[in-house]
Amino acid sequence: MPSPTPLAYWRDAPAFGRIRLYQGDITKLDTEAIVNAANTSLLGGGGVDGAIHRAGGPAILEACRQIRARQGGCQPGAAVLTTGGRLPARYVIHTVGPVWQGGHKQEPELLACCYRHSLALAEQQQVASVAFPGISTGIYGYPKAEAAAIAVREARAFLGEHAFPGTVVFVVFDEEARRFYEQALQA
Ligand code: ADP
Repeated sequence: MPSPTPLAYWRDAPAFGRIRLYQGDITKLDTEAIVNAANTSLLGGGGVDGAIHRAGGPAILEACRQIRARQGGCQPGAAVLTTGGRLPARYVIHTVGPVWQGGHKQEPELLACCYRHSLALAEQQQVASVAFPGISTGIYGYPKAEAAAIAVREARAFLGEHAFPGTVVFVVFDEEARRFYEQALQA
């Protein structure tokens, strides 16, 4: 029997109000939901998407296929919810970030929509905690500092405007990304 994967200690991560900043692998988090930086096909891809499908197993892809059958894929800025399969998280919220094309193709608005719509799904499910990777900041090329500022602004706005009582965790992979979030969270 393989030993169970150790869970990430996100509960000990630095807190900024109800937002926490955790550095590590999002697939190890036992927040009630984790957010996936998916693509419009919902059929999996590279980066965090690939890692989530690998760690969560085939139940996530099956749920994505059912959503595709019902509504086609998922448009940039939108979000859909599936099981977390074998992940420690109960749910995966799949959102599709904008591909960075220089900043004048509604990338900031679409990225903000990703956070708002994902948080709306988290609220609908009444999850106690939801973790986000840096949507669009990998293969999709969104500048990391600007993306962190949007993520923090939208999470704060949502927590201020809604009765959602959950914790929001921003998950960063590297030091550089962590600094951008720290700057945004301390602003
Ligand atoms: P996108 O296509 O939306 O740009 P990527 O998956 O390429 O999505 O990258 C999104 C962000 O997720 C990047 O900042 C990348 O460093 C980060 N990332 C990749 N794998 C993981 C992981 N396992 N846990 C947390 N963050 C991750």
